[in-house]
Amino acid sequence: MHKELVSMVRSAADRLKPQLLTWRRHLHRFPETGMETEETQRYVREELKKMGYVPRKCGRAGLTALAGKGGGKVYLLRADMDALPLTEVSGEEFSSENPGKMHACGHDMHTAMLLGAAKILKEHEDLIEGQVKFMFESGEESDNGAEDMIVGGVLENPAVDAAQMIHVVTGIPVPAGRILIPPKGTVTTGSCTFRVTVTGKGGHASMPERCNDPLATVCRIRCGLEEIDISDADDGEGSVIAVGQIHGGKTHNIIPDAAMMEGTIRTKTTETMDLAMEGICRVAETAAEVYRTQARVEFPKFIPAMVVDGTILDSTEGYLRELLGEDAVRIPAGMQGGGSEDFAFVSVRVPSVTFILTSGNSEDGFDHPAHSPKARFDESSLPVGTAVHVYNAIRWLQDHRP
Ligand SMILES: [Zn+2]
Ligand SMILES: [Zn+2]
Repeated sequence: MHKELVSMVRSAADRLKPQLLTWRRHLHRFPETGMETEETQRYVREELKKMGYVPRKCGRAGLTALAGKGGGKVYLLRADMDALPLTEVSGEEFSSENPGKMHACGHDMHTAMLLGAAKILKEHEDLIEGQVKFMFESGEESDNGAEDMIVGGVLENPAVDAAQMIHVVTGIPVPAGRILIPPKGTVTTGSCTFRVTVTGKGGHASMPERCNDPLATVCRIRCGLEEIDISDADDGEGSVIAVGQIHGGKTHNIIPDAAMMEGTIRTKTTETMDLAMEGICRVAETAAEVYRTQARVEFPKFIPAMVVDGTILDSTEGYLRELLGEDAVRIPAGMQGGGSEDFAFVSVRVPSVTFILTSGNSEDGFDHPAHSPKARFDESSLPVGTAVHVYNAIRWLQDHRP
């Protein structure tokens, strides 16, 4: 029934391959990090304008554009645009020309695929039975760029009904160009950074009774964290409270005035996250009381767990089988990592789905994983990602026409 649409979308995406490569390699050559992505935004904005869009700035460093004739439901497609603070040693001929910055997470691939989808959808706007909203985000790795765009209104005007993202993966022994379909429910852990700053009263180490010891406090807090029981919660098994750094003092015979520790919490639900956060505050307070110090607890960075909506997953899984047949496969249970993804901010607000696009078979020489300065990505997957964006948007809007 949808054969005609399938072949139109696949051949349009295949024909676009040289352009996808041009976009991707340009972005790869000139990576920018965090929210400081002015040149990248300018490039994406200009490319969208050439296609006939009126791109709008959203939040501090995001861009949006709309395809469709107005009215109907809204399907959001998202790409992130930021790179990592790494010095590239991948050996690619189009390696980074911005020192200390590299597209090592494949966000250049994401941006190119979404530009490709925007181009095809604009050329076939008559097929869109509703509206497609494009979300180009900065600061995924470091600054919760998705949250910033939500504050900036990306999910409103027109209100988004469903959302989708694709992340590439490299360095695994799977042929490139396959879509891995997640299970429904929680697919990444939520993560929260915590920082405890302890202030006391320093002095000579030979007279600890005259001091309020921040080092002793920090040690007691660290041990106390072991007793925070989050294992009772449904998802207790995957939950973690870990400390990554402790600092305090300069030499052996001075008790310092202050000390600090920083760590991370990983959980699958917000309820467990709340339990962990409360636990840390309680432990810190108790320890500070014992040593007559003050402990200030902060949670400077929080990303919720990403949720895949069962209803959207069911429909899009069907679309992917129409489009890709055997190349759309379910992720084997247990293959999920403990990483975070800030699209989670979208996924807890509107029904969302996320797919993984295999883009580097370790058996074909794509040996290094994302976030490695040696990471390389297989560009042959680009038309697949573009086609998935286009096809899912058109089909979902067809199935949800008013
Ligand atoms: Zn990353
Ligand atoms: Zn990423």
